[in-house]
Amino acid sequence: MGTRDCGQKSAMSSPCIGEAGRTGDWRSTRPEFDPAKCLAVKAGRPACFQCWAYCPEGVIKKEVGSEVDLTYCKGCGICVEVCPSGAITMIPEPEEE
Ligand code: SF4
Ligand code: SF4
Repeated sequence: MGTRDCGQKSAMSSPCIGEAGRTGDWRSTRPEFDPAKCLAVKAGRPACFQCWAYCPEGVIKKEVGSEVDLTYCKGCGICVEVCPSGAITMIPEPEEE
């Protein structure tokens, strides 16, 4: 099984700690949203949500002004690829102190 101590069984389950730990621990880059370019923000209503639909970790909130749960964002960049307005870019993770 891919997860433990989660009580979840389907691919559509919420993110949780798996056999390899939290997916956010793998990340070397993170998504950064530019609200000025986001179609939902510009429309002022729930719209688009391609980033939410295609995020393989299910960590983008389905709401205007998308937020990402960085605990489980693995930095794959798929959200960047599917965003139709170029509102998301990947930036390097800050150096650990
Ligand atoms: S698509 Fe990838 S990079 Fe974007 S929020 Fe989801 S896990 Fe993170
Ligand atoms: S895919 Fe891009 S434009 Fe659409 S809701 Fe997400 S950030 Fe906004």
